[in-house]
Amino acid sequence: MVNVQEGIPIARPKIGSSGFTGSWRITKPVIHYDACTKCRLCYFYCVENSIDLQQDLYPKIDYDFCKGCGVCADVCPTKAIEMVREVK
Ligand code: SF4
Ligand code: SF4
Repeated sequence: MVNVQEGIPIARPKIGSSGFTGSWRITKPVIHYDACTKCRLCYFYCVENSIDLQQDLYPKIDYDFCKGCGVCADVCPTKAIEMVREVK
């Protein structure tokens, strides 16, 4: 994983600060990488810090901690993130 925060004075929540998500999540974000421009907005705005950047700088979602709030999909300028219903 890549830490692009080094030297950037911004505050982000601790990973999993609200604990594991469990089974209550109704929708989850799915990234369509063909539409992703690596702008990192989803990474910076995720309320749970559950989006990390891979070596190629594409974002990757940690579903153990993602709460399904949809903020990442909302801020994505290319609509590369789709909120899909969880299959239970
Ligand atoms: S849905 Fe919410 S918690 Fe999950 S990755 Fe997006 S912003 Fe983070
Ligand atoms: S906000 Fe959208 S375009 Fe930007 S890195 Fe995230 S998925 Fe890619």
